[in-house]
Amino acid sequence: MKKILIACAHPDDEVLGMPGTIASLASSGCNVYVLHCFEGSTSRAFTNTSFPLNEDTHSQVAIAERINLSVQCGQILGYEVLEPLHLPNFRSSVEDKLFLNSHIASIIDKLSIDTVFTHFNSDLNSDHCIVSDSVRVATRPLSQPAPSVFEFEVLSTTEYSYKSQFLPNYFCSIGMQLSKVQQAISIYNLEMRPLPHPRNYDSYRSRARLRGSLCGCNYAEGFATVRHLLPLA
Ligand SMILES: [Zn+2]
Repeated sequence: MKKILIACAHPDDEVLGMPGTIASLASSGCNVYVLHCFEGSTSRAFTNTSFPLNEDTHSQVAIAERINLSVQCGQILGYEVLEPLHLPNFRSSVEDKLFLNSHIASIIDKLSIDTVFTHFNSDLNSDHCIVSDSVRVATRPLSQPAPSVFEFEVLSTTEYSYKSQFLPNYFCSIGMQLSKVQQAISIYNLEMRPLPHPRNYDSYRSRARLRGSLCGCNYAEGFATVRHLLPLA
């Protein structure tokens, strides 16, 4: 695991999903790249569906701000933000999905990615599921060793699937990274909500405790393995 792509839907998903693992991988010398596929702001900013949601000034400023926050988190956790795609939230077309499939495949090829992390395939958030589907298409094993693929969970969407439970079977101990995680989550302060809402540092820490109890660590993040190729010589 050396060159890692985190394919996520929105700016903040990587920080709500796997910040401790990103920091651990980066500090151990891995190159970690984050791709944001959707714009992340417009669907919440407007309710008038006849309005051209992704072309107004307010939305453009909000989108740029969210990407900027992700860049700041990248400096704390140690990842590089790739050129975002700005697909429209919750309104993607068949053409958008086809574009996403080929774009992710081209990044994997261009950067020689060996491991991809993406969303849980039965997440409540439909944008998350679209990205997860595209990763599965883009990482099909063809003529060369396919990248390993793991799914991560995102606070306040994955657990709300209820009947489709996320079942982690691959773990990363993140106790040493908690201060960086807290810093990164605080960057997205406006996105956080007070308890008992799950989107906050306290909930993240509780989840890390729970995941740690599944693998004998004080704190951990858990992943669901889609495919893992043992790196034997
Ligand atoms: Zn998201």
